[in-house]
Amino acid sequence: MRQSKLFTKTQKTLPKGEESKNAQLLIQAGFIHKEMAGVYSFLPLGKRVMENIMRIIREEMNVIGGQELLLTGLQNPEIWQTSGRWADEAVDIWFKTKLKNDTEIGLSWTHEEPLTALMRNHISSYRDLPVYVYQMQTKFRNELRAKSGIMRTREFIMKDLYSFCKNEEEHKAFYEKAKQAYIKIFDHVGLGHVTYVTMASGGSFAKYSHEFQTLTAAGEDIIYIDEQTKEAVNEEIIADKDLGYDKNKLRKEKAVEVGNIFTLGTKYSEVLGLQYQDDQGNKRPVFMGSYGIGPARVMGTIAELFADEKGLVWPSSVAPFLAHLLCLSDSVEEADALYEQLQSVGIEVLYDDRHGMSAGEKFADADLIGIPWRLVISDKTLASKSAEVKARQSKEIELVPLRELPNYLQSKIS
Ligand code: ATP
Ligand code: MG
Repeated sequence: MRQSKLFTKTQKTLPKGEESKNAQLLIQAGFIHKEMAGVYSFLPLGKRVMENIMRIIREEMNVIGGQELLLTGLQNPEIWQTSGRWADEAVDIWFKTKLKNDTEIGLSWTHEEPLTALMRNHISSYRDLPVYVYQMQTKFRNELRAKSGIMRTREFIMKDLYSFCKNEEEHKAFYEKAKQAYIKIFDHVGLGHVTYVTMASGGSFAKYSHEFQTLTAAGEDIIYIDEQTKEAVNEEIIADKDLGYDKNKLRKEKAVEVGNIFTLGTKYSEVLGLQYQDDQGNKRPVFMGSYGIGPARVMGTIAELFADEKGLVWPSSVAPFLAHLLCLSDSVEEADALYEQLQSVGIEVLYDDRHGMSAGEKFADADLIGIPWRLVISDKTLASKSAEVKARQSKEIELVPLRELPNYLQSKIS
């Protein structure tokens, strides 16, 4: 992408009226646009990061047998009345609206009920199980607080997977696979070293569930970490005697829940009548689980954790581009040629081909945007047919011959 054509421009100063660090930086660097409190649009740079995160999630969901679908954003109240979750007293984050004829309908905030009802058309025998489906779909939630930038918004894409199994044993095996898949996902996006599998309350479903909690000062949760086992417990349940934890022996940290996995059991299948016939001819309720990740919350967490005083710093697995090519010379032929060549071998490049900007301005923009590899072509580097290469988070600059750059960068792709 030529930067002269990119419609987003960086801003010289931090945006006003935005308190969270992730949103401040992402707005300043042109990744997102604030529509109103808790509602953000994703601009080309931000969209690319989101797509990378969603691709990484998709890959792992497919590996464990997930099939992608897309459920509706408008929700049928009848199904929710059956489960008792339509009432505002039961769920306080509903956005509801009305049809022309005054019938109330809901905007999607989760999908246990509609999916369970839908599955009645497809599951009737033990031969139809297990089934694992997931989606990347927009959720609307009337969140009370919206002070964490893109980490907690009133409209967001969620990856939600739902599992349908014959019994608890089959469910447990899948739950464990999902847990391992989540560990891989958070490793791959660059958060593995600060993300803890955390014991949490299972709410009204099961006694316990697991959250994936990433350490950050921007987090709204408190977790207690066991240094020996590297496991953690959410503050909500730390006092539970059955768990046998001594709070004083654990490390207390602020964290954000980037994902969670839940055992739902037969709660929804029983109320909504999702049954199957087992191999003895007996009718049984389907045993369910749900598994969520917020890609934008992951993106915001990455922004919070890695940013430095100059701007954003993206891990290469999620970066909007792998390389940021800066042309500081008036003769553009070599930079143009390098741009074409890198793209032809599959390296994604943002090419700062803008005229009339100082080197300092281009460097500042590159630091703010945070692409992993900065390549600088100037009259000086051209004299030795080279480019200056610098990793975003390092101070070291290396002179690399132009013809070696494609291989050099390909070895950095993760
Ligand atoms: P929280 O306790 O932080 O409100 P939750 O328990 O409501 O999260 P789920 O309903 O299980 O979370 O959603 C699954 C995932 O979706 C969460 O782990 C998180 O990554 C993401 N998520 C939840 N709420 C939001 C939000 N308001 N904005 C962005 N992402 C969210
Ligand atoms: Mg919530």
